[in-house]
Amino acid sequence: RVSFTPRKFFQERLKPSKISPIKPSSFEALGVSPALITALTKMSIKLPTEIQAACIPPLIQGEDCIGNAKTGSGKTIAFALPILQKLSVDPYGIFALVLTPTRELAFQISEQFAVLGTSLNLRTAVVVGGMDMIAQATELSNRPHVVVATPGRIVDHLKSHAGEWDLSRVKFLVLDEADRLLTSTFAPELAYLFDAIPKERQTCLFTATWTPSIEAIADAPPKPGKQKPFTHKM
Ligand code: ADP
Ligand code: MG
Repeated sequence: RVSFTPRKFFQERLKPSKISPIKPSSFEALGVSPALITALTKMSIKLPTEIQAACIPPLIQGEDCIGNAKTGSGKTIAFALPILQKLSVDPYGIFALVLTPTRELAFQISEQFAVLGTSLNLRTAVVVGGMDMIAQATELSNRPHVVVATPGRIVDHLKSHAGEWDLSRVKFLVLDEADRLLTSTFAPELAYLFDAIPKERQTCLFTATWTPSIEAIADAPPKPGKQKPFTHKM
């Protein structure tokens, strides 16, 4: 016997469509430059994923962004393409700081930047725990465009004042796996970093899970003269 109640029927009818209203069209339609599309083609990447289609246009246009999509949905490229595209406009100092909770993720992210940024002569530094501090300080002094870091280690470097570099020109901050970064574990380091980078910058958060700390940021009223971040929720 199949149970049927009108209430259940309406609930099911009223459920939001599983099909996203955002149609992944093409990277070109999202405003990605021909040079970067060539790099994507070399990686056999042809069509944007949903999170890329949602977040790339607002990021290129200078908005802040919160992107929520499951693991493996291409969140790295969703922030790497806008960063690389904007980089060509202002290649001075450390342009982007990408924070991620683990060493392994940092290397994976930097690899994707390296592949996409080959034709731009992109310099990327990976600053993570468990590796030689002096070699990292040299990398940081070598004028990288993008620094991919775990919070603890980049703060260690800032506190040790070794090398000729700072974060005063950062225009783009990424919290990758923001659900894992926005916990008490990383709170002191994040507070230190937020003080060390300019207030005038673009910030984006990417997360596989929608946690209360992410919700709080998404719901917070915007600062005077600012708009709320563009939010794409799974
Ligand atoms: P996430 O951060 O969401 O877990 P990643 O950014 O690590 O996912 O991407 C997972 C894999 O998908 C990577 O190997 C990446 O190269 C690939 N990828 C990203 N975007 C696309 C795309 N538009 N089409 C095909 N593959 C893609
Ligand atoms: Mg990721």
